[in-house]
Amino acid sequence: MKEIVCQQADEFKMIDVAEPVAGTGEALVRIRRIGICGTDYHAFKGNQPFFSYPRVLGHELAGVIEAMGEGGPDSLAVGDQVSIIPYLQCGTCIACRNGKSNCCTNMRVLGVHTDGGMREVIAVPADHLINTNGITLDQAAILEPLSIGAHAVRRSGLAAGELALVIGGGPIGLGVMAFAKQRGAAVIAMDVNEKRLNFCRDWAKVDETVHVKNNPLQQLMKLSNGDLPTVVFDATGSAKSMTDAFQYVSHGGRLVYVGLVKVDITFSDPEFHKKELTLMGSRNATLEDFDVVLYAVRGGSIDTDRYITHRAGFDQMIDEFKNWLNPESGVIKAIIEV
Ligand SMILES: [Zn+2]
Ligand SMILES: [Zn+2]
Repeated sequence: MKEIVCQQADEFKMIDVAEPVAGTGEALVRIRRIGICGTDYHAFKGNQPFFSYPRVLGHELAGVIEAMGEGGPDSLAVGDQVSIIPYLQCGTCIACRNGKSNCCTNMRVLGVHTDGGMREVIAVPADHLINTNGITLDQAAILEPLSIGAHAVRRSGLAAGELALVIGGGPIGLGVMAFAKQRGAAVIAMDVNEKRLNFCRDWAKVDETVHVKNNPLQQLMKLSNGDLPTVVFDATGSAKSMTDAFQYVSHGGRLVYVGLVKVDITFSDPEFHKKELTLMGSRNATLEDFDVVLYAVRGGSIDTDRYITHRAGFDQMIDEFKNWLNPESGVIKAIIEV
């Protein structure tokens, strides 16, 4: 079978390898869709933290079960369409024991810490598969990035009637906006790109938009009658934005870092204390978040068609990938069809 390996920064190669075999508790999945995201771009460009080469990328995965090893769950069968939860947790560490498998101390994410799904067939733990019969393969492939947004919203404890600000209108920020709206919050989107802001309004149905270059603090004060949003999500992956975000949170509010950066973030302690802020990291997602997203997708409340802006076949992926790196391509979510 074929597999695409990221040999080193800036270099993909398609190679032939033997098909894997399903071990105990594993399933063989024939990969049909691979979503591409910021993590893959950063890995390819050589600026992903904790990354080593060669590596098979691909963690937004949908396919069909081709074989089940021994000891797999009875709820899945050969021929089922599935999404893969790519976060392989240890199951025994303090985080896992406390139901926070998304931040396992020994976390291995497929396509990041261990080889992922840019291949025709993959063997994965069967308990990391979600049955997605009845939705499309495209929809099944974007459960993962949307779950990251759903997780951030759940983590924040956002309640109906609150005002939330989401900074960053990329694929993750859009998911945060959509699930914040579904919780009944009023949502303001902030970005540097006017086109993206329009898409936030149109796609995620946010209530207001704020351009970063246009005195955002003043605009937020105006939109909140001087209160400021009680929850601010930063999904930019920009240290500058993450630092600036402190000033946009109301007194007593929460600031949630969804995006991450490789550097230290510093902030003013007097400002932090004065407001009695809560700062939260949000990492990956859990099965519970996948279930929330799957329910929303099945119910038709998430516009999955327009979320996917670019696609290519497995054989064209290496050529197309570089175009997707260009911000002018307008890419939100690129999908590979295998
Ligand atoms: Zn991703
Ligand atoms: Zn663990």
